[in-house]
Amino acid sequence: MRTTFFDDHDKNITGVAYKNIHIKKTIILYFADKGNTTITELCKELNLSVPKVTTLVLDLIADGLVKDFGKTGSTGGRRPNIYGLAPDSVFFLGVDVKYNHINIGLTDLRKKLIRISKGVPYDLQNSEASLKELCRLILNFIKETGVPKEKILGIGLNMSGRINYLTGYSYNFFHFNEEPLNKVIENELGLKTYLENDSRAMAYGEFNSGAVEDEKNVLFLNLDYGLGMGMMINKEIYYGKSGFSGELGHIPLFNNELICRCGKKGCLETEASGMAMVRMFKESISNGSSSSLKKGPNDEIQMEEIIDAANNDDVLCIELMEKIGYNLGRGIALLINIFNPELIILGGALATTGEYLHLPIKSALNKLSLSLANNDTQIRISSLGEDAGVIGACLLARKRLLEDTL
Ligand SMILES: [Zn+2]
Repeated sequence: MRTTFFDDHDKNITGVAYKNIHIKKTIILYFADKGNTTITELCKELNLSVPKVTTLVLDLIADGLVKDFGKTGSTGGRRPNIYGLAPDSVFFLGVDVKYNHINIGLTDLRKKLIRISKGVPYDLQNSEASLKELCRLILNFIKETGVPKEKILGIGLNMSGRINYLTGYSYNFFHFNEEPLNKVIENELGLKTYLENDSRAMAYGEFNSGAVEDEKNVLFLNLDYGLGMGMMINKEIYYGKSGFSGELGHIPLFNNELICRCGKKGCLETEASGMAMVRMFKESISNGSSSSLKKGPNDEIQMEEIIDAANNDDVLCIELMEKIGYNLGRGIALLINIFNPELIILGGALATTGEYLHLPIKSALNKLSLSLANNDTQIRISSLGEDAGVIGACLLARKRLLEDTL
């Protein structure tokens, strides 16, 4: 695997070398966030000496990360050179693993999405073969982009369920080895890999490049087959003690006899999720309702088909969406009463139905949450939509490699 100064967390680097790595990362982040500049400006910003910064910038040029763009256009006196990021120097790869497909993309140092492949068919099973297939699809994507593998600094990989991003273990999927999953994938792909819970990665993507303006306390709801939540508290991802926070779907809010996939009864997910919607659709058809989808009571149906039908004005599917939305509103009322957040973002596949989901949620909130807390909370539909996961995964890989403390 390629090792660069980006990947130094496990090594015993100390003293001056350690400091220099940190400064180099700061210089790269400066160029990425604020654009090109001169050595003098950089010294002022970073509060460092000219010889020090010059040496490190020359190192970065030798690494192919920074470029000397020549003299500035100013007149009079000696004109200094300006420096900035070398275009297409390095990239970050993001993979968002869903139940029946993956989305995969690449961003550059400036957080720009260079390429994305959505809806790549993939059958997520908890098996070695399924993991192998995932790795094959990732390598395939890299090949298709034409970007040399050594230019990809790291991979952010989103999975649903319990993930400990610090140890690299995934507990709901691919937990076959003593070794953490991120190491298993790294060995297979030859690229540094960071795991993250899918809803948290989506929240991070949305927070950095999506529907968040200047709000600091934001809850992102991932409304898919299951229900997940990513929390940004004071602009930081909130993990909880072991990284398992945000299990919105398994709050026991309903007094029903439906067994949830977690093994318990009455979870919010049993009445307010894509899975619940599929069940309700089948029940309605069995009870004689009709739909433009023309399915019989025993036919297989995917959540995506119901969502598409709702977006195409199918009455039954819109009614189901309203029911799901109202039930979801019960869960959101609870969140508002506890967190008093500035913003709640509705994301994930169900949120693509827009107002069909948003209006019943609003109506439930008016009835069920405390009006003072409710008045302060805005509800917004995700602006990144299906891209939130991939963008979040890329940005998290970038964050782990560039921003997190060594
Ligand atoms: Zn549950």
